[in-house]
Amino acid sequence: MSESWSGEFYCVKCREKREATGHIEVNAKGTKLAKGVCPTCSTNLTRILGKA
Ligand SMILES: [Zn+2]
Repeated sequence: MSESWSGEFYCVKCREKREATGHIEVNAKGTKLAKGVCPTCSTNLTRILGKA
């Protein structure tokens, strides 16, 4: 099951914040991450949301 998340991501390629919709993943350390794709350059975006 994947939760969706939408909001601001920082795009390292554009060097700007982008509004995007992605999904939530939890990594091996139990940290929640939002993963999306930059609407401008299609780079994968990751935002740390905190502990799950
Ligand atoms: Zn971008």
